[in-house]
Formats: sequence, structure tokens, C-alpha cells
Amino acid sequence: MAKKPSDKEEEFFAQQEAKKRKQLEQKKYEEMKEIERRQLKELHFMKCPKCGMNLEEINYFNIKIDRCTHCHGVWLDHGELEAISRYRETGFLKNLFNFSRDSNHKNNDQSP
Ligand SMILES: [Zn+2]
Repeated sequence: MAKKPSDKEEEFFAQQEAKKRKQLEQKKYEEMKEIERRQLKELHFMKCPKCGMNLEEINYFNIKIDRCTHCHGVWLDHGELEAISRYRETGFLKNLFNFSRDSNHKNNDQSP
């Protein structure tokens, strides 16, 4: 005759079963989230976050940025804003340097 499990044993196995079920549900949830994330990426890839139209890659100060073909909004990837401001800073200094050189040159031309 089989021994009847005690209440404590039953409780233990019930807890184990619940734990296993919870882990399975969590795994299923994460898999669904991953599928959803992939679908959303596919749906929104190279689409304007404002109007939903296509984005095109354009060259801006040698940095490839995404611009909307419809509303002409601009989308910057990670690090591109910093790259542009760095370029603009050095570009500005270069222009300033060229300008002062040009004005010196003009002054030299004007001198008798
Ligand atoms: Zn747009």
C-alpha cells in the first residue's frame, strides 16, 4: 500500500509546480516581447517618428544622417549630434582663421 503524502509534501510539490509554471510564463512573455520588438523594428525602420514617411540617408558635414522625405525632419543616431557639433566647432575655427588671413591679405593689398 502506497504511503499517502503528508500535507507538507503536497505543499512543497505544489509550490515547485507553481514556480515552474511561473518560469514558463515568464519565458513565454519574454519570447513574445522579443517577437513584438522585432516586428516593431521592422515596421518602423527608416520611418519618420513624426509623420511615418520614409527616411533617406543624407551626407551632412561628412556624417550620414537620416532625413524625412516628407516633413524634412532630421534623425540623428547615437553620437552623431556630438560628431556634428565637434565638426562645427573646428569648422568655425577654421573659417575664423581663414577670415582673419583673408582680411590680413586684403589689408596688405590695400597698403601702398
Ligand atoms: Zn516626417
